[in-house]
Amino acid sequence: MKLSEEQKIQIEEQLAEFPLFGYGYLPVSEVSFLERVRYICETECPRYGKSWSCPPAVGTVEECKARVNGYDEVFLFASVSEVDSMDNMQTMLATQKDHERITKQITDIFKTAGCETLTLSTESCIQCKQCTYPNAPCRHPECQFPCVESYGIMVVELAEKCGIPFIQEYGVITWFSVIILR
Ligand code: SF4
Repeated sequence: MKLSEEQKIQIEEQLAEFPLFGYGYLPVSEVSFLERVRYICETECPRYGKSWSCPPAVGTVEECKARVNGYDEVFLFASVSEVDSMDNMQTMLATQKDHERITKQITDIFKTAGCETLTLSTESCIQCKQCTYPNAPCRHPECQFPCVESYGIMVVELAEKCGIPFIQEYGVITWFSVIILR
């Protein structure tokens, strides 16, 4: 279901309740899928092959592209967290958890408005202490959001198209999520 402008305004009123740094809509045709982003997952990320939310479990970049192209538009949003130290993993994880909670709540807003959603979010899923991949099905598929980059999508490029600045300052973490809608 394609959202009307009136529905978007109603959703915007609900979004005002969240500590969002910025958001915007784009048609899915604006999303690029890059094999080189997947290459970085494969060669540099320790989570590659360890989670249902990461490659290769999410499928090839071509399969991800075909999945996204079955939808109408993309809603991208960012939240910003300030931390004392970028070296403290616990603090970083806590801010990621906050963003993931917001991502689930905003996904539910779109679902309530009648949309089918495909949500992509930050890094590797952190719902369980130990992911079941590849031995058993995902325990919480309703809140397991694949990593944006796992689809070969460069989130900074999308943010630029939506006019959302990417803050690169010590002590500031910008988290992005993408909710794909139809
Ligand atoms: S919800 Fe649990 S089982 Fe599913 S991808 Fe996340 S960590 Fe793995």
